[in-house]
Amino acid sequence: MNEFSQIFETINFGLIILNAELKVSHWNHWMARHSGIDEKQIIGASLFDFFPAINTPRFVRNSNAVLSFGNFAFFSQKLHRFLFPFKPVGSFQSSMFENMQQNCTMGPLKNDDNKITGIFLIVQDVTELASYEQKLVELNTKDGLTGVYNRRFFQTRLNEEYQRYKRSGNALSLIMFDIDFFKKVNDNYGHPGGDAVLQSIASKIASIMRTTDFLARYGGEEFCCLLPGTDLAGAYILAERLRKLVEKTVTPCQENNIKVTISLGASQMTAEDSVETFLKRADEALYQAKNTGRNRVVPIPPIDISVDSSS
Ligand code: GH3
Ligand code: MG
Ligand code: MG
Repeated sequence: MNEFSQIFETINFGLIILNAELKVSHWNHWMARHSGIDEKQIIGASLFDFFPAINTPRFVRNSNAVLSFGNFAFFSQKLHRFLFPFKPVGSFQSSMFENMQQNCTMGPLKNDDNKITGIFLIVQDVTELASYEQKLVELNTKDGLTGVYNRRFFQTRLNEEYQRYKRSGNALSLIMFDIDFFKKVNDNYGHPGGDAVLQSIASKIASIMRTTDFLARYGGEEFCCLLPGTDLAGAYILAERLRKLVEKTVTPCQENNIKVTISLGASQMTAEDSVETFLKRADEALYQAKNTGRNRVVPIPPIDISVDSSS
């Protein structure tokens, strides 16, 4: 083993050398350990035989650019997550990532005549960094108790959706809801009982929302659902579904089974609206739902429910 191969074998990166036909000529210990593929098995074989998922137009284009022009290519974790499908190591095995997160660099290898003879590929495990980054994003955007988005991030998304509405004119609606007589829940079952209700209501509602819908905790026991691509009639139908879902939800807490209802207000963005007037109308609708008996949905402006709910 020469000096360079000692480094090659002990360094905490994956190091691969490919020839001009993309056949493996070097495969270091790090690669063998994480792939479970021994150097003896893979040397002389095409990388794609062992990792068919890597055979993408992008990878082929990049390797051609390295071989033809001596370019460097980067595969960033932020864009691609990983190149080689390895399991995360150690404490990250049960983390938020199913696969080891990787940054990869590809570059040319030249002989003494400056002719490109192959490609080197460096694979770096960045799972730890990526998980800290994800945790920071979650801390900044999500509510700690319920796991749905927080009010600050809701405002950001609302402003973005408002700008999108101005450009596209596509429907944008909002449902605002508040738990009925929530003070009584805290009085009867204590704060932990109230917290358990908030968690179970938020997770039940999140489970039936579309991926494009956006659920946030707006205040203590008040939530907002922002619905891009949905008009007021659609928002009304969804609000009714949410109302019925909460009505039949039972939250177990110690020896108690807690049941609550919600009141909901709905509004749709119009050309005359600002973010504030759009929010204010949903809030006003919620206020009316509270004042007309609770456990109900009020859209503003009122809609012909008999026609719209059957559609
Ligand atoms: P209404 O039907 O008019 O909405 O009646 P309400 O009792 O729900 O009235 P209100 O909205 O004024 O009460 C909200 C209560 O929610 C008061 C506050 O103590 C409680 N609350 C706010 N945030 C939390 C929380 O994070 N956990 C718990 N357990 N309670 C909370
Ligand atoms: Mg309330
Ligand atoms: Mg309230």
